[in-house]
Amino acid sequence: MSEMYNPYQNMLEVLDEAAQNLGYTYNDYVAVRSPERQLIVSVPVVMDDGHTEIFEGYRIQHSSSRGPCKGGIRFHPQCDVDEVKALAAWMTWKCAVVNIPYGGAKGAIKCDPSKLSEGELRRMTRRYTASILPILGPERDIPAPDVNTDGRVMAWIMDTYSMLKGYAVPAVVTGKPIEIGGSLGRGEATGRGVMFALLNTLEKLGLKHENMTVAVQGFGNVGSIGAKLMRQKGFKIVAIGDAYCSLYNKDGINVEAAIEYSAKNHKSLQGYTEEGIQMITNAELLALNVDVLFPAALENQITKENADNVKAKVIVEGANGPTSKDADEILNKKGIIVIPDILANAGGVVVSYFEWVQNIESFMWDEDYVNNNLEKVVRRAFEEVWKVHVDNHVSMRMAAYMVALKRVVTAKKLRGVFP
Ligand code: GLU
Repeated sequence: MSEMYNPYQNMLEVLDEAAQNLGYTYNDYVAVRSPERQLIVSVPVVMDDGHTEIFEGYRIQHSSSRGPCKGGIRFHPQCDVDEVKALAAWMTWKCAVVNIPYGGAKGAIKCDPSKLSEGELRRMTRRYTASILPILGPERDIPAPDVNTDGRVMAWIMDTYSMLKGYAVPAVVTGKPIEIGGSLGRGEATGRGVMFALLNTLEKLGLKHENMTVAVQGFGNVGSIGAKLMRQKGFKIVAIGDAYCSLYNKDGINVEAAIEYSAKNHKSLQGYTEEGIQMITNAELLALNVDVLFPAALENQITKENADNVKAKVIVEGANGPTSKDADEILNKKGIIVIPDILANAGGVVVSYFEWVQNIESFMWDEDYVNNNLEKVVRRAFEEVWKVHVDNHVSMRMAAYMVALKRVVTAKKLRGVFP
């Protein structure tokens, strides 16, 4: 990440422009320019060798105007308050744009999970959960997986919360294993949502998706599953990459084989081979002459320094905040359509919402029902965003922010300022 980049500032600049386009005064939306609540905790962990290490943890609740706060928890060595603040705000806009009854939050622990044993990870997760417990709860704030966290971590969070309450509370966290109240389809939901958003966009553009080429940056839950589902639909995935290496095959990569390899190789693509495959750099991946670029890694990957090199027709943002505001302007000028994160990757939180509803109802939905409802929610949100995009001659990102901000401001106005 470039040194000057501040993700929260970046978010505010887009927000201010959306407010201006909606004709809002500063007073109309000033309350959503800062998060409602920010909690920073020190998480002591007794390491396997007996010494105690302190990790910094965060849980930031940006807004609860439309419902309980919702958003993932990430484990990453580079996270800080401004990043978590931005991620929390993006959750507010994401839940609003797809119109599910949640506000936004995000959490993080500053750590390198690849250097921690399973026991250390478990103790860290449990102590962090206990430390943020006063602000969690099915009606307060519901965490979920994000970068480097998964069902196993969610199970520890659910158990810690439940033990301290004295009874099982599955609805306190989503993205759980199926056996303890997880939803069918949640594991694939973000990738599936990305694919739906992409198909909806290509349909409007009058482009046939069969054999369209795709480059994927990031090979975690979103990148790998998104790529797999796109390939099943007939897209040709010509490039994939993770934190360790990037790979290119003009004839298309066998994504299923790469997923299997990465799972067995400590979540790394390093060393994966197949006929016709070659190593490229991350910069080359982003600049490939492909139809679709699918950033699914971290923030601030497409910047003013490299945006001009992008040759894709469409960018579908699987990651949160992969494109900086300066880069957006360059991409818009070049006529590249960007399907924004808050719409494109909302599938995960939509099925998290379905999971929470199933937990509250104590009733399990079948997978087709989950997937069909996800498709409907993404389609409805997409149509609303597309209409604002066309009617107001603004980018899809600006349109999505306008739809989202309007919903949040309306909710705030209806509730009024307390006291
Ligand atoms: N971490 C995911 C996101 O950024 C999912 C959040 C959730 O399901 O609450 O959207």
